[in-house]
Amino acid sequence: MSNSTSTTNESDGSRIERRTFLKGSAAAALSAGIGGAGVSQVVQGSTESEAGSDGWVASGTCWDCHQLCGQRVRMKNGTAVELKGVDGHPRGSPGEGREGRLCSKAHAQIEKAYDPHRIKEPYVRKDGELQKASWEEAFQVAADKLATFKDEHGPEKLLMAEGYDTDDMWKHLIMDIYGSPNKVGHKTICHGPWSYTWDWMGGRGRPAPDHKNSEYIISWGRNLLEAFNGQWEPMGILDAIEENDATLVTIDPRYTKTAQHSDEWLPIEPRTDGALALAMANVIIEEGLYDEDFVENYTYGFNELRQQVSDKTPEWAAEITDIDATKIRKVARGFAEAAPNCYATVWTGITNQSNGQKNAQNIHVLNGLVGNLDRPGGLRYWESPVDLADPYEVQGVEFPSNQDGRSQPLSDYEEYPFHHVRGLAHAQFPEAVENGDVAGAFMYWFSPLKNSNTQDWIEALEEMDLLIAIDAYWNGMTRRADVVFPESSQLEKPMLGAGGSGSYSTQGWVTGSKAAIEPQWDTKPGFDILKGLAEAMGYGEYVPWDSKEEKINDALSGMGLTLDELDEKNYVIQGEYGYESWKEDGFDTATGKFEFVLDNVEDYAAAAEQAGISTAPEYVPPEKFGQMPDEEYPLDFTDAFVEQISRGGDQTLDHSRQLLAERWGLDHKDYRGNYLLLNPDDAEPRGIEDGDMVTVESPEGSISLMAHVTEGIKPGYTATTLGWGKGSITPNEEGGNSMMLHNADQIEPISGQVARHIKVEVTKGGDA
Ligand code: SF4
Repeated sequence: MSNSTSTTNESDGSRIERRTFLKGSAAAALSAGIGGAGVSQVVQGSTESEAGSDGWVASGTCWDCHQLCGQRVRMKNGTAVELKGVDGHPRGSPGEGREGRLCSKAHAQIEKAYDPHRIKEPYVRKDGELQKASWEEAFQVAADKLATFKDEHGPEKLLMAEGYDTDDMWKHLIMDIYGSPNKVGHKTICHGPWSYTWDWMGGRGRPAPDHKNSEYIISWGRNLLEAFNGQWEPMGILDAIEENDATLVTIDPRYTKTAQHSDEWLPIEPRTDGALALAMANVIIEEGLYDEDFVENYTYGFNELRQQVSDKTPEWAAEITDIDATKIRKVARGFAEAAPNCYATVWTGITNQSNGQKNAQNIHVLNGLVGNLDRPGGLRYWESPVDLADPYEVQGVEFPSNQDGRSQPLSDYEEYPFHHVRGLAHAQFPEAVENGDVAGAFMYWFSPLKNSNTQDWIEALEEMDLLIAIDAYWNGMTRRADVVFPESSQLEKPMLGAGGSGSYSTQGWVTGSKAAIEPQWDTKPGFDILKGLAEAMGYGEYVPWDSKEEKINDALSGMGLTLDELDEKNYVIQGEYGYESWKEDGFDTATGKFEFVLDNVEDYAAAAEQAGISTAPEYVPPEKFGQMPDEEYPLDFTDAFVEQISRGGDQTLDHSRQLLAERWGLDHKDYRGNYLLLNPDDAEPRGIEDGDMVTVESPEGSISLMAHVTEGIKPGYTATTLGWGKGSITPNEEGGNSMMLHNADQIEPISGQVARHIKVEVTKGGDA
């Protein structure tokens, strides 16, 4: 596949320079402590007084990080000029009668909507070059190419890759109708190890925190106050601290904003989380602090667990984790004494490791021991007791199952050893392309180049026979595609969402809205793109609605609600359900109990045996599967999330990049890429000062980015934010793509999760 394109730099040079304005607003955001919470700011170049105070005319739902915080939009002369939160919103506020807020990323939506870097019209590759096309032409070319691909390769060789979708039609179109069984999403680049493990241990997916009722919170490898699932999370935690006198503990080698607000910050030696968890279990068991009734009646494998941790004392763990034994005892006791109104919650900090699965298991042991599951202030088994109808059923649409009988080519464990518990792992697709098992991809806001072995992915994309992309920005995928469909951003399309987890601990919610503004330029919402493509492919009968609004209305008909009404209200709270679901229903596991030991999970037991680890909790040191620093590459490097930039394509926005630069005090520099956090102990011997450009080199490659020298990261450990540099959407690919340093072997062997810890050396100097 040719990679030549005439569209690499889409900027038309008309961007408004907003740094002067943003300086004030960002300072306010930072002083608010949790990023932008509480900051209501104008991004589109007008101030509140200029816009007037009576223009809150449009409603909306933020999708910038997929969490649906409710928002209202102020319009002025047809332009969106300001956003604010919705009071009482289940995802954007701490609950009834409480102020709704948006984080700093959300405020950048206005800049995103009018961003001249966006793809403004469809493109089709002709004579090796991407050229502008009409929508009709783009639909027809894509449909023809998909038909030819199916004839030549079979549908099973088309990869369906999704990251940021806002309509489920793609699943039906590409998987059910076209017949591809192959999909890759977030599971092996984000949360796979703990999603699988916590589901195996207790069933029903991943239990999540009931923040506002909690009294003891352990944010473990998670930066809860700035990498959140909606504003209800940081606000609920701050409420718990204020109203319940809750203790907040952060376990993280980085001094994050969550660490700043914590009672205890445990700057753990990277990748030794599993040892710390076992030592805490040792304290809780040895001191009889566990929930005897829960353990005796509702758990499986306690005796084996007791044996496994009998010698895993805090002193043993202190050697490994660099956390004082006294502190380990203190946190273990505090956590258990607050039970059941306590929780230990995890995310990428523990999953992006070669031993991520065992980290997740050992930490969830602690939740099981204190019996905090589905109890107030613990880890809730959230439900969604809302009556949305299935819009396909309402219209009598039935999809074929054309993928049935077509196996996923990567289910051959001999050939692709690291995917025992799932068919496909993100990092392995390049190899699958090389082996002829995948020959094309349908990509819906998909960004593989920032998520694993970038160089391999670039080569694989070049090899593929067909690439179709739906996206809003030019990046490493869209520039290589055969057909590019430009999608609208969230202010330009209607939204609907429903769920349970949020600030209403025993009720479900529905939230949604109409579009606030018309699609900009010649772009379309995802629904319209999928409908147009389905019609061109001859599948129009499966999309009977003329618009997404009609489809949403069919879904809302189950609640006796219309989109007009929901748009006005922004959200509706519905249903009621209780705690301790396991008392009646048991846990959804082989034994019906919460399982400390996973010998009943067939797939896992087989994978564990092959990997040489136990089904019981145990400490798996990082070197067993992962890459360790050595003489040549003495530093441990990874990437992480910050509030200002994460997911959703914020890297191109002046607003977000400026806030990030200000956060590290480097906004006076002519640089808006990502930053390498480096401890002074590591910076000084290398002659590196704050604000210097540096080169980070691994055995796989090298990148350049700016150093931020700070005590807020452990010596020997370095980190940056992901999503920058080569293949990214940043203007001129500014910054360093951390995954240029990565290879396909850096993978967690049970789940196939990308292991993001890389051994590197850092030297002064690099491309600005
Ligand atoms: S948390 Fe996510 S959904 Fe909520 S306001 Fe921020 S970016 Fe939007």
